[in-house]
Amino acid sequence: MDLDVKKIINLHKIDTRLQEIHDEKGGLPEIINEQKEKLDELKNQIHQSEEEIKLLNKDKSVCTSSIEDFNTNLEKHNKQMDNVRNNKEYDALLLEIDHLKKENNELQSKVDVINNSIEDMNTSNDEINGQIDSLTEKIGNNEKELNEKSVEFSIEEKLLEKDKKKLMSDISDNLFLDKYKEDNNSMVSAVFNGSCGACFYTLPAQSLEDTKSGKLITCPNCSIYLYFDEENQ
Ligand SMILES: [Zn+2]
Repeated sequence: MDLDVKKIINLHKIDTRLQEIHDEKGGLPEIINEQKEKLDELKNQIHQSEEEIKLLNKDKSVCTSSIEDFNTNLEKHNKQMDNVRNNKEYDALLLEIDHLKKENNELQSKVDVINNSIEDMNTSNDEINGQIDSLTEKIGNNEKELNEKSVEFSIEEKLLEKDKKKLMSDISDNLFLDKYKEDNNSMVSAVFNGSCGACFYTLPAQSLEDTKSGKLITCPNCSIYLYFDEENQ
């Protein structure tokens, strides 16, 4: 049994490391996915904003051509002024000129509002484009890192898997192995900071000493197998 204890401890250390590698790689694809989603969102914002700017420019050109017509119209009305025959005609014409001027002023302010909106949108788009650039760079770096990690870990993972297979074939306690294969984390844990690594129950001094001397003990609280890992304290 003493020999199996060492093997069981080594087996769990291997699985802990495999889990670490998995977690370390596992985080990056998730981060990259989130960043890509954000990137799509930003690109979509720019697209929508550009469509709005197109519509605003259309409105603006309608207003601008009406303003151009105004000058021609005003000139026409001024000429008619020379030919008025009575006060009634004069008042009517004056009213019409006032109306034209009022309409023209409204068009001018509409153009001003449109210009301000376009300017605001362009400023905001510049900002979003900056975010897009920096996000694109981040995604590129993360993808490079993930790629490097996959290469880096692939050798370690292969070696760990090989050692694990050997250990499992060497362990004679089949009952233990069957349960371990089902869920290794609920079977074995390392002592952490003087406590059970699974339930964080503070271990009695003697139990802690036993683990330090290389024994596999069971946690008094949750019954998990516990060992002491010097490298992981
Ligand atoms: Zn426990």
